[in-house]
Amino acid sequence: SLTLGIVGLPNVGKSTLFNALTNNDVLAANYPFATIEPNVGVVPLPDPRLNKLAEVFNSERLVPAVVSFVDIAGIVKGASEGAGLGNKFLANIREADAICQVVRVFADDDVIHVDGRVDPAADIEVIETELIIADIQTLEKAIPRLEKEARVKKDRKPVLDAANAAQAVLDEGKTLFSARDKLDGELLRELSLLTTKPFLYVFNADESVLTDAARVAELKASVEPADSVFLDAKVEQELLELDAESAAELLESIGQFEPGLHGLARAGFHTLGLQTYLTAGPKEARAWTIHQGDTAPKAAGVIHTDFERGFIKAEIVAYDDLIEAGSMAKAKAAGKVRMEGKDYVMSDGDVVEFRFNV
Ligand code: GDP
Repeated sequence: SLTLGIVGLPNVGKSTLFNALTNNDVLAANYPFATIEPNVGVVPLPDPRLNKLAEVFNSERLVPAVVSFVDIAGIVKGASEGAGLGNKFLANIREADAICQVVRVFADDDVIHVDGRVDPAADIEVIETELIIADIQTLEKAIPRLEKEARVKKDRKPVLDAANAAQAVLDEGKTLFSARDKLDGELLRELSLLTTKPFLYVFNADESVLTDAARVAELKASVEPADSVFLDAKVEQELLELDAESAAELLESIGQFEPGLHGLARAGFHTLGLQTYLTAGPKEARAWTIHQGDTAPKAAGVIHTDFERGFIKAEIVAYDDLIEAGSMAKAKAAGKVRMEGKDYVMSDGDVVEFRFNV
């Protein structure tokens, strides 16, 4: 499954956030047999639709979609110089599908900042620079090789061109993600570059920032087109120990209406290019993870490969139509249930039953 790698300077709250990510127990309930690596935090994607579906279908349990975060330990400044930990750090980032950078915005004189001041833009630049340098080094090795290959094999020329275009972006100090509209991601894939990955920023803020809409908007704009999330990692950890009522009070006291982890799960899901569709029956109401743009047979394959191979049709009703009708039978009677074929592109909120041959 796809993962977001958590990176950030020391003392920005990575461990605190990661603890909050790993200490939620929703997963243990739903995936009792899954082995989860110690450096992987898995959070459920909040989806109130599942509760409603479970009512309509009398489902025994709810199974939400999940988002996986990998804790990427290690130094950052100087990582691209390649010494021991640095190499491991970069190798771990290479394995992740997106980069989730925790950025310190909280002021706390008791927590030392590695560079002596709280400056989100400068911190973001430190990390980006290391990744950009690592990519430049990768391309410096790859381009001479691609030039040789392109001389004897015509089909290698487009890859060489893509590599040169990428080099030009990096030389300007920009990430490849920021220039993704101008680059051929498919051709660059074989080079395993780091900055082509989508970025997500987690601004670890305190109440003074969280309640300051102008400051939040300014930070958000500073990292666009990347997604961003604002939360207080320390509060997130505290929330896990509180009952629902006290948790709601604590959130309200810092101007929030839901746990930051909810927003983080949604943003992580979006950054990875994922979406869900829904199934429901007496056993379970469940959200299944697919890629944005997946067709019906691909979506069926997530449940079982046989469903993709033997795909005939998908019986689909939009979640809102189903809830409005009140039951599957009533939705059918109202003409809201469609039969879709193998070219149908799945839409978020589709409630589905697949027809297939075995
Ligand atoms: P890491 O080095 O990035 O993993 O940072 P840690 O999670 O270990 O946090 C460093 C210190 O900052 C710890 O003492 C945390 O309790 C504290 N800390 C983390 N998040 C927050 C926050 O949102 N507000 C405040 N005031 N302190 C925090």
